[in-house]
Amino acid sequence: MRGRRGLLIILSSPSGAGKSTLARRLREWDPEIQFSVSATTRAPRPGEVEGREYYFRDRATFQKMVEDREMLEHAEVFGNLYGSPKKSVVEALKQGIDVLFDIDWQGGQQIRNSLRAEDTVSIFVLPPSIAELERRLLTRGQDRGEVIDKRMARSRDEISHWAEYDYVLVNSDIDRATEEVRAIVTAERLKRSRQPGLIELVRDLNSEFEERSGEHAPAEDSPPNR
Ligand code: 5GP
Repeated sequence: MRGRRGLLIILSSPSGAGKSTLARRLREWDPEIQFSVSATTRAPRPGEVEGREYYFRDRATFQKMVEDREMLEHAEVFGNLYGSPKKSVVEALKQGIDVLFDIDWQGGQQIRNSLRAEDTVSIFVLPPSIAELERRLLTRGQDRGEVIDKRMARSRDEISHWAEYDYVLVNSDIDRATEEVRAIVTAERLKRSRQPGLIELVRDLNSEFEERSGEHAPAEDSPPNR
């Protein structure tokens, strides 16, 4: 127990703005950050592993999870359902472990409007240009042409929500953007309200002051300083 509740770190961006790389690098920097593995009804892409990138579920199973209130948030994206299962997140937060969410603006809104708003920090990643966004989607080669067109259309919608986020960064250089995300997390962890242990530390510091002033107090009979 770290003496504080964990942070919910929300990372959103249009596809291709470098969000997944940033998420991976953030966890390499601090492996204790837990990634919230979402459930989705979309089919796995080559190389994706059940339980690592996503929990791949059919629509009926997903909807049952929603009905049973097992999701912290959920939304429809590109015609598929995506949601963040609640259980592992709640357990981590209770232990003071920070949880990272790679979710869209709808999920971001739901978490910000929930009881957990106080513990939430949201970061939006913008691409330097739309041409660059498209180039990244094409070189990633994970999707077919028509899917890329859909993603580009959806990017505009996603970008329109940039102003709802606490922090916004432009990913023109991935190393710099990584530094910026780390700086945000570091600063958020240092917020006074997130350091309940400080009260005790400051009390101890004051006791030390008192002990010292006792030791260094001028003797009763010493002549006054002129
Ligand atoms: P992809 O299919 O490329 O993995 O993800 C598509 C979009 O869905 C991305 O913008 C991603 O951030 C978002 N997404 C992934 N998981 C979740 C989730 O659990 N909830 C919400 N609201 N969006 C998600």
